[in-house]
Amino acid sequence: MKKYKLYSFFSFFFLICLFTFVSAKTVKEPLYQKTIFLDAGHGGPDSGALYKNIYEKDINLSIVKKLEKQLKEKGATVFLTRDGDYDLSVPYTINRKRSDLSRRGNMINRSDCDLYLSIHLNADTSTTYHGAQVFYDSSVKENKKIAELIQADLKQQLYTTREAKEKNDMYLFHRLKKPGVLVEVGYISNPNDRYLLMQETYQEKVAKILTNSIISYFYEK
Ligand SMILES: [Zn+2]
Repeated sequence: MKKYKLYSFFSFFFLICLFTFVSAKTVKEPLYQKTIFLDAGHGGPDSGALYKNIYEKDINLSIVKKLEKQLKEKGATVFLTRDGDYDLSVPYTINRKRSDLSRRGNMINRSDCDLYLSIHLNADTSTTYHGAQVFYDSSVKENKKIAELIQADLKQQLYTTREAKEKNDMYLFHRLKKPGVLVEVGYISNPNDRYLLMQETYQEKVAKILTNSIISYFYEK
């Protein structure tokens, strides 16, 4: 009987410790036990959209690295599809772009991530188009909610008037079985957006908005 009481006491004590530890961790690290996959669009020979020698691929990666750092500080486990200037295509493939996108898709689908974010910049022949916009494929139910949540934060903090948009014909995103969205952070073809997107402080700001949106998503779930 005594042994049983002692056992109960220690079990109770252990549970209290565990609860305190998890609560403290959750407050300081709200993304503790969450895994997020970040995809910096393009890379290597695929520069993405460009203006003179300013390439979308470089700005995408720079934002992704800042986002990675901030998400890790909040306790998340973060994976990147690429962490340097290269694409993911299989060597000597006929369709390099398709191969690159397929491998990104496989990396995300085979992971146990709770969410992915793909970072891109937009471009248009008209220089007047501007602002950040979130696109989502509706084959995963959660995606609309994630897109609208992030878009609302971008509207409020980056003063964009754009709305989240459903798009179900994007090769990569239609293949993805995990929840997530594509964020077009701004237009490289618009002078003001381009100027801002090249600033480290602006990239940090974008990373912070996205980090907070991700935290809200997991807490509102
Ligand atoms: Zn792109």
